Amino acid sequence: MSARKKVLVTGGAGFVGSHLCDRLIEDGHDVLCVDNFFTGSRDNIIGLLDKPHFELMRHDVTFPLYVEVDEIFNLACPASPVHYQSDPVQTTKTSVHGAINMLGLAKRTKAKILQASTSEVYGDPEVHPQTEDYRGNVNPIGPRGCYDEGKRCAETLFFDYHRQYGTNIRVARIFNTYGPRMHPNDGRVVSNFIVQALRGKPLTLYGDGGQTRSFCYVSDLIEGLIGLMGATDEVTGPVNLGNPTELTIRELAEKIIDMTGSESELEEHPLPGDDPMQRCPDIGLAKSALGWEPQVALEDGLEKTIRYFKETL
Ligand code: NAD
Ligand code: UDP
Repeated sequence: MSARKKVLVTGGAGFVGSHLCDRLIEDGHDVLCVDNFFTGSRDNIIGLLDKPHFELMRHDVTFPLYVEVDEIFNLACPASPVHYQSDPVQTTKTSVHGAINMLGLAKRTKAKILQASTSEVYGDPEVHPQTEDYRGNVNPIGPRGCYDEGKRCAETLFFDYHRQYGTNIRVARIFNTYGPRMHPNDGRVVSNFIVQALRGKPLTLYGDGGQTRSFCYVSDLIEGLIGLMGATDEVTGPVNLGNPTELTIRELAEKIIDMTGSESELEEHPLPGDDPMQRCPDIGLAKSALGWEPQVALEDGLEKTIRYFKETL
């Protein structure tokens, strides 16, 4: 076990945040989970509520927070397009005001702070696979702008706090991640398709399903986030964290129908505005700087996720 630290996880009751809280408690740390429950839930952290070293605080990161901590994982922000577009102004506030508040906290307490950034900073990429030096192709006034530009501005704030105040920062650019504890109504593709397949409903393919994504199982992502926070101080990032196995959304749908033994059919729906046509991380930097690469193959991760949804639904 590493030395016990006081670790703040914002968005700790969400999908990724709850797995991170589990891991930090297992590693013997004091964990403060802060969440406003916009997309997160107490169910995700129910197993932690009676642990003596776990504390839950309902709080919105767009407001200042006064606590004493050694490390901050800033994950608060809805990640599913359906949810972040339902209140886009709040989404930008969460990313930007949230970053300012958490960076202010890091500055005062001299805590190390990690930002959960996203592959969405690359927008609809013209460079493939995406490397960290690619500056992206984001539409600032489109439906994804609230999330993409919010996250881009948060990265700017992180690097300005680093240069201006010497704040010890880490920026992870997270690519599509999936696994148990995604909400059945989360709206993202893996949970949508699995829930639809298990219920015998048509799988909602947006567009012709020719767009690609690369899916990372949640335990691999957690390992990457812990590795980045624990890396030497020169490793500020941004670092891509994702699984480079790329497939089309149609291939994903067919795989899930196959694996669930479902009778469901595919049903084409209009492609949402600004939906990126291809996405795949170059993880060369994560490999060399963190010695990290994903361990869980897509089929194995889907198997675990399907089992989770079978038990939950
Ligand atoms: P999620 O929606 O399950 O979790 C987000 C959590 O943040 C929820 O618990 C929500 O209630 C909380 N939250 C939202 N606004 C808040 C606010 N103003 N104050 C306090 N809490 C707030 O999403 P997730 O998949 O767990 O994503 C976690 C983080 O990782 C997000 O920052 C997201 O942008 C980033 N990320 C995730 C993915 C992915 O594929 N899962 C990909 C790229 C980036
Ligand atoms: N998608 C789909 N059907 C769904 C949900 C999503 O075809 O029910 C597509 C979506 O248009 C996108 C991809 O799957 O091209 C991934 O969508 P998701 O919302 O999971 O994440 P994104 O990477 O777009 O943020």
